Amino acid sequence: MTTSHNKRLIIVSNRLPFSVHETDGELDFRESAGGLVTGLRSYLESQEKEDSRLDYVWVGWPGNTVSNAVTEQLKARALAEHRSYPVFLTQEEMDNFYFGFCNRTIWPLFHYFPSYTTYEEELWKHYKRVNEIFCNALVDLTRAGDIVWIHDYHLMLLPGMLKAKSPHIPIGFFLHIPFPTFEVFRLLPVRWRREILDGILGADLIGYHTYDYSNAFLQSVLRILGYEHHLGRITLPSRIVRVETFPMGIDFEKIHTAIHDPEVQQERDDLKKTLTDVKVVLSVDRLDYSKGILNRLHGFEILLRTNPQFREKVVLIMVVVPSRIGVEHYELMKKQIEEIVGRINGQFGSVNWTPVIYQFRHLSFKPLTALYSLCDVALVTPLRDGMNLVSKEYVATRSDQTGVLVLSEMAGSAKELGEAIIINPNNWEEIAEALKEALEMPLEEQKRRNQIMQTRLRRYDVVRWANDFVGHLLAMHSEQERFYAKLLPASMRERIIHEYEHSTKRLILLDYDGTLVPFARKPHLATPSADVLRLLRTLSGDPANTVVLISGRDKKTLEGWFGRIPINMVAEHGAWLKKQDGDWRTLKQQANDWKPRILPILELYADRLPGAFVEEKDHSLAWHYRAADPEQGRILAGELMDHLSSFTANINVQVLQGSKVVELRSSGINKGVAGMRWLSKEQYDFILAIGDDWTDEDLFAVLPDTAYSIRVGVTNTQARYNFRNPSDTLQLLESLIHSIRIGVGQHEGPMR
Ligand code: UDP
Repeated sequence: MTTSHNKRLIIVSNRLPFSVHETDGELDFRESAGGLVTGLRSYLESQEKEDSRLDYVWVGWPGNTVSNAVTEQLKARALAEHRSYPVFLTQEEMDNFYFGFCNRTIWPLFHYFPSYTTYEEELWKHYKRVNEIFCNALVDLTRAGDIVWIHDYHLMLLPGMLKAKSPHIPIGFFLHIPFPTFEVFRLLPVRWRREILDGILGADLIGYHTYDYSNAFLQSVLRILGYEHHLGRITLPSRIVRVETFPMGIDFEKIHTAIHDPEVQQERDDLKKTLTDVKVVLSVDRLDYSKGILNRLHGFEILLRTNPQFREKVVLIMVVVPSRIGVEHYELMKKQIEEIVGRINGQFGSVNWTPVIYQFRHLSFKPLTALYSLCDVALVTPLRDGMNLVSKEYVATRSDQTGVLVLSEMAGSAKELGEAIIINPNNWEEIAEALKEALEMPLEEQKRRNQIMQTRLRRYDVVRWANDFVGHLLAMHSEQERFYAKLLPASMRERIIHEYEHSTKRLILLDYDGTLVPFARKPHLATPSADVLRLLRTLSGDPANTVVLISGRDKKTLEGWFGRIPINMVAEHGAWLKKQDGDWRTLKQQANDWKPRILPILELYADRLPGAFVEEKDHSLAWHYRAADPEQGRILAGELMDHLSSFTANINVQVLQGSKVVELRSSGINKGVAGMRWLSKEQYDFILAIGDDWTDEDLFAVLPDTAYSIRVGVTNTQARYNFRNPSDTLQLLESLIHSIRIGVGQHEGPMR
C-alpha cells in the first residue's frame, strides 16, 4: 500500500530526532541515534525520493530544557531545519514523567520485572499531565488531512486524549516494547490500567511487533474493559479499532552495503590487527536489566571454565551503551557488570589475552558496523526485548553471509530469526553450549542460515514496515469514515423532526435493550430510567402516535416495567403481543416441546461458567454470559453455538448469538413478522424504527422505503442510519416530543 501525496504525517514520540543545547543564548542541534529514530528517518528519506511524497512533521521533546528567551527561535529552526515541532517540558515534568512513570513503572513492568516496578500516584499524575501537554501541542498543530502516528510507551494515553478532541484525524499507535500478559498488566492499579487501555484504544490502528504482544493486549482489553474482538478488530461502543502485528524492520540495504565504505573498512582492519588468532564474540546493548547482560557474562564464564580449549582463542567484546543514568537499578547493574568482567579477566586472562574487552560507551554507525562485520558470533541474550534491532543489524552486515547469531527466545526478533541459535537467557549453561556450537559451526552451515535470514530482513525492511502501518491506518480510517457517513446527520435529523410535526398518523417501533437503555451486567439490572418512562408515556399519550415496544424480553418483565403506560408491546422477539388496550396473546401457535430437551444443555454450560445463567421464557431460552469472565464466556459461547447447531438441525428452532447471549427460539418468529401486525393493517404517514441488534434487522427489512430506520451501534446494517449509543435515541425522541410542544419551526430541544 502506498500513501497519497496530499497527506501530512505527524510522527509523535517522546524525543525528537535531535537534541538541542543552549549555550549563551546560542542553540546547537545534535542529531540523535537510536532504533526508532534511525528507522523512521530511513522511511522518511524513502518518501522524499518518491513522487507520492508524504509531507511530515516530527513532534517531541527537544532533549533539553531551554530558556524562555530562545523558545521561539527553537521552534522556528526546528520546523525549518528539522521539520520538527518541539514540545517543551520542564525539568520537573521530565524527571517525574520520563525518569519516573515511564522508566520506574511501565518499562520494568512491561519487561516482566514487577519487583523493580514502583506504583506512585504522583508519577502517574505527571504521566497524564505530559500526555495532555502533547495532546495540546497536537491540537494546535494538526489540520484536516493529517495522519498522526504516535510511538511508544511514553504516550499511551495520548491516542485517547487526541481522539476526544479531534475525532476525525486518523491516529495510529505503535508500541515498541512488549505488551505483557494480563496477569502482569493487572498489577497496575485498576484505574491506571483502565485508563491506559482506553488511551491506547483512542487510536484507529494499534501496532505491536509480535503476535504475542497483540494477543496479550487483546486479552487485557477483553478482561479489563470487556470488549471482544474478531480477528483483531475491536468494536467499541462508538468506533471500530484494529490491532495488528507489524514487526519493525531495519534499513537493510544501508547496513548491508555499509561495509564497502572506506571508513568502515579502515576501522575494521585496525580492529582486526589487535585481535589476531582469536574468534570474536560481540555483545552490544544499552545498559538495561532487560538486556540480560549479566546472564551473558555468566554464560561466557561457564564456556571458559568447562571448555579450556577456547582459552586464549576467544574474546568477548562487550559494548554497553550508557542509558538512564541516575536510575538506581541501572547504576547497580553497571557495578555488577564491572565486577563480573573483572572476575572473568582476573580468573582466566593472561598477559597476552584479555577474555572480556569491556567498553562503556556509545558507538556511532560506522564503528558499530565495523564491529558487526568483524565478529564471528553475536551474542544477544535479553530477558525481554520488544524487538531487538541489534540482532537484525548483525545478520544484515554479513555480506559474505558468515557469522553466527545466538539469540534469546525472549526477543521479539526471535520470531523472525528462527535460523539463529535460539536460547533461553535464564539458563547460563545453555548460553555456554550455544556459544560452543556457534564457535564450532561450519562455514557452510553459517551461510545457509544467514542467507535465509537476510532474505527475510531485506524483504520486510523498515520502509516496508512503516508503509505497511501507514497504509493500514489509512484503510482503517476510510472504513471508519464510511461508518461515520451513516451516522444520522443533523440535516436528516431536522427532516425527521419536521416530518413528525407535519404527520397525523405515526408508527414508532422501538427496541428496548441497547436502544433505549445501555446493557447492564445482569438483564434485570437494565431497568428503564425515569427519562425513558416519561418519554414513552408522552409519546404514547399523543393520539396521533402508535408506539410499539418490540423486545426480546419476556412479557412479565415488560408488563412489570411498562404495564401502566398505554403502549403496544411485543415480547420474546415476536412470540407475544399486547395491543395498547388489550391482553397478551401469542402471535402464532408454537410447539415448545424442544425446550425440555435443550434446557439441560444450557444449564450444563451455565454450570461450567461462573456468572453465566439460563433465562427461560415462554417460547425461547437464553444463555447469558455478560457477568462471566469475558474470555471464558467467549470461548464457551462458541462451543455452545457449535453444540446447539448440530443438535437443533432437525427441529424447528433457531439458534442466535446476540450481545453476550446465546438464544433459542421457535422458527418463524421474528420482529419483522411482529412489526407487520401494524404495518399491514393501517396507513401511516410517518414511520420510525430504532433497534440495536441483528434481531432488529428483521424489522428493518419489512419497513417501507419511506420509513426512517436507525440502528444503534457501530455496525453494518440494513437500517438507513446509525446512532452511536442509546442516549442518541433518547435525544431524538425528546426532540420529537418537544417539537410538538413548541410548534413548527423551533426545534431546539433541551437535550440536543
Ligand atoms: N546502537 C548504536 N550504537 C551503539 C549501540 C547500539 O547506534 O553503540 C543502536 C543499534 O544500531 C540499534 C539500536 O541502537 O539500532 C538499539 O536497538 P535495539 O532494538 O537493539 O535496543 P533498544 O536500545 O532500542 O532497547
